[in-house]
Amino acid sequence: MSSLILKMYNTIIKKPVRNIKLIANQINSKRECYICHRRFNHFNKYQGGIKNVPLWLRKLEIVGSDPDNFKCPFCGSTDRERHLYMYFDKLNLWENLRDKSVLHFAPEIQLRKKIEQYAPAKYIKADLYPSDSTIQKMDTTNIPFNNESFDIVICNHVLEHIPDHMKALKEIFRILKPNGIAILQTPFSKLLKKNIEDEAINTDELRLIFYGQTDHVRVFSEPQFIQSLVTAGFIVDVKKHQDFFNDDESYSFGVNKIEDLIKVTKPAIHN
Ligand SMILES: [Zn+2]
Repeated sequence: MSSLILKMYNTIIKKPVRNIKLIANQINSKRECYICHRRFNHFNKYQGGIKNVPLWLRKLEIVGSDPDNFKCPFCGSTDRERHLYMYFDKLNLWENLRDKSVLHFAPEIQLRKKIEQYAPAKYIKADLYPSDSTIQKMDTTNIPFNNESFDIVICNHVLEHIPDHMKALKEIFRILKPNGIAILQTPFSKLLKKNIEDEAINTDELRLIFYGQTDHVRVFSEPQFIQSLVTAGFIVDVKKHQDFFNDDESYSFGVNKIEDLIKVTKPAIHN
């Protein structure tokens, strides 16, 4: 082909065909990232997906991340990050951040960007193992702030990593202002009466088998987890996923339709 014909072919035939294919892919895509709005057919799996989760853990029907619909292939948001974003939209919680003091543990990148748009008066990002210099190294069981320092704490899928989670809950309670709220998502099973936690489960191999991840230290039972929130002093206010989202949205956005929002409040008057 002469260069002129090649150029004509590229601009008139090839590119429109490619664009039509892209548009067709977008229309036919089954999934959409709630955060970056890109469309595609599959979220990236976590560690090979649900088929690699031990059978007995699958039978416990853990309410937590969905390993088959984990990361957005474009913005990298995880399902629990997208889910929190959706809850914040529905409950109009973003506006609660404006001019407030916010403590965000294990701060997810897309949530950070969104929170910063609402210009909190103080926004502390914290992690036991900070991934960048904007994140403060912090142990959830020993929070280096005075009593009643924060209006909002976000602790999304963190408690399952903390050996003394009661101490962490008491610390979060201590540094919250009266009427302050915390979002405390963690994986749990509705089928368990008691947490699964044993000091003999003390190697990566055993933690992977019994807890599902090498860095988890227990599997929470729903009643025991809720009781631990009450024991720490919180008023528990669970927002049901199904009151806000339909099955098509859960599927399309790749979020776990059985994971409700665990929102707790520090009472204005407490002991
Ligand atoms: Zn995305």
